[in-house]
Amino acid sequence: MPDPFCISARYINASIMIYQQLKAKLHNLVPDFELRIKAKLAEQIIRLKKKKNAVILGHNYMEPALFHSVPDFTGDSLFLSHKAAETDKDMIVFCGVRFMAETAKILNPNKTVLLPSQKAGCSLAASITAEDVRELKRRYPGVPVVSYINTYADVKAESDSCCTSSNAAAVVNSFKTDTVIFVPDEYLARNVAKETGKTIIFPTLPRPGIAEDKNLDYQLIGWHGRCEVHEQFTVGDIEAVRKQFPDVVVLAHPECSPEVVEAADFSGSTAAMIKYVEDVAAPRYLLLTECAMGDNIAAVNPHREMVRLCGVRCPHMNQITLADTLKALQLDQYVIEVPREIQQRAVGALERMLWTS
Ligand code: SF4
Repeated sequence: MPDPFCISARYINASIMIYQQLKAKLHNLVPDFELRIKAKLAEQIIRLKKKKNAVILGHNYMEPALFHSVPDFTGDSLFLSHKAAETDKDMIVFCGVRFMAETAKILNPNKTVLLPSQKAGCSLAASITAEDVRELKRRYPGVPVVSYINTYADVKAESDSCCTSSNAAAVVNSFKTDTVIFVPDEYLARNVAKETGKTIIFPTLPRPGIAEDKNLDYQLIGWHGRCEVHEQFTVGDIEAVRKQFPDVVVLAHPECSPEVVEAADFSGSTAAMIKYVEDVAAPRYLLLTECAMGDNIAAVNPHREMVRLCGVRCPHMNQITLADTLKALQLDQYVIEVPREIQQRAVGALERMLWTS
């Protein structure tokens, strides 16, 4: 019988090692006592993860101590979807939001997929329903539907392809039709329209006070969904930061308004932003996206200086904590289910997204 003292000493040593690894990366960002507490949680998560033959996927917006300790893979939606599609583990724990966990389930209908919080939704995903898409298809028969990955499974099931911010323009261009329906993010749609040289209309009225677009010359049909985080960044924010730090390089996520993207120096997905900071030397950077990502980049690029606008946080991504991730593995919660009929109709749209770059 194994000596319980030896076992607990092994766990303590593992937790000390995790603490030291976290401290090396996060000593300038997270107080020491918190790192010790989080290292203990991370040690238990990693132990249970192995026992349950689980893989943990962590989105770039996760808080720094979680991001740098328990995930087997970290990245943007596209990268994590690839990892979900490739995994041979029995269980996937998604440290992200619900639509991401659903995506993993659609790609792995026979595996158990867990989301550590039931509150991790998304304002974009909630902005459109499957019936809305069916109505658009009735109105524009034969026009292919591209839905952003930030949608729920039943909307994906009504789509011809999904896309992420990394490959939105490529997916739109992959359809050789005169017109494409692109839902639900209004700003991403406007930015894609600009990038691809297409004219866009917004024919439906999901929000009071938004007038119907009567333009008859269009190639993209959009929807008025918004990310509650990225819609808050303004050109005024950029001007104010530039006034204080004239040498700042501004990176904007394409879920920001076209005006903000225009005023920035670079626009790209979270993965593209990380690559930019690593590849392009600048005195300092301003990232217009969820604030945690600036911390996660700074942790592994201590020579890069970040200017933070942390008044704007994603209330959904912030639901995912180390404590909830541990509970998810202990109690097998919260299990993501996608009805078989929806899964079978949605998987084709996701596969087209995965193989378009
Ligand atoms: S940052 Fe925006 S798009 Fe991403 S999960 Fe939060 S609300 Fe949704």
